[in-house]
Amino acid sequence: MKSAPSDQRLLLDLVDLDVALRRAEDARANPPQSARVKELIAQRNEQGRELVARTNQRDDQQMELARLESDIDVARKRRDRDRERLDKTAIARDARALESEIASLDARIDSLETRELEIMEALQQAEAAVAEQQALLDETTAEGQRLSAEGKAAVQRATDDVAALTRDRAAVAARIPADLLADYARIGKRAPGAGHFQQGTCGGCHMSISPRDLAALKTLADDEVAHCPECGCIMVRTAESGL
Ligand SMILES: [Zn+2]
Repeated sequence: MKSAPSDQRLLLDLVDLDVALRRAEDARANPPQSARVKELIAQRNEQGRELVARTNQRDDQQMELARLESDIDVARKRRDRDRERLDKTAIARDARALESEIASLDARIDSLETRELEIMEALQQAEAAVAEQQALLDETTAEGQRLSAEGKAAVQRATDDVAALTRDRAAVAARIPADLLADYARIGKRAPGAGHFQQGTCGGCHMSISPRDLAALKTLADDEVAHCPECGCIMVRTAESGL
């Protein structure tokens, strides 16, 4: 196939644009943040489950404390009532019964109050555990939101890049003769469509060609399209090719 050297040189611009386009398309499809965002979502679910468990534990302690306070209240009221009755009674047998009940109520109140202190201590720890877990969860959420926003911005930038590169590529492609462009596209499906030939090396596969192929290339007319014997891409020859 024949093609003007200046047209062949346009293929090098096309190669650069295609490389940049593929990179931008890849960046659009896989922003670097997305893997970490997925990790953070999983981590957030895990931390959320732990927060529920800790909150339930705290609520249990609160309920237990409320129950104890109510029991203490009932026992105290009964003891106070017994004391009033004791002050008023003149019957020795009733007085003894009341004294005995007051003593047993005192013991009960004392034991309930000891338990109350233990529960208050446990509740304090449970509340600290909830706060600690909530802080972890908030941190994960904040990092996730930040990375997610960064990812969205990266996708937007890549989308803009793809649009700009697609426009640039169309402009370059429009200047290349149809048969040369078709050859480039056919080869480009499995390898770089073209490469700059320099220092005896194909710019597509970066392999040195044999002395025999090099000798043939030296005698080949400038407007003849040369293909790499290794990768098949169009070897674009320029003033820097050293031929
Ligand atoms: Zn090659």
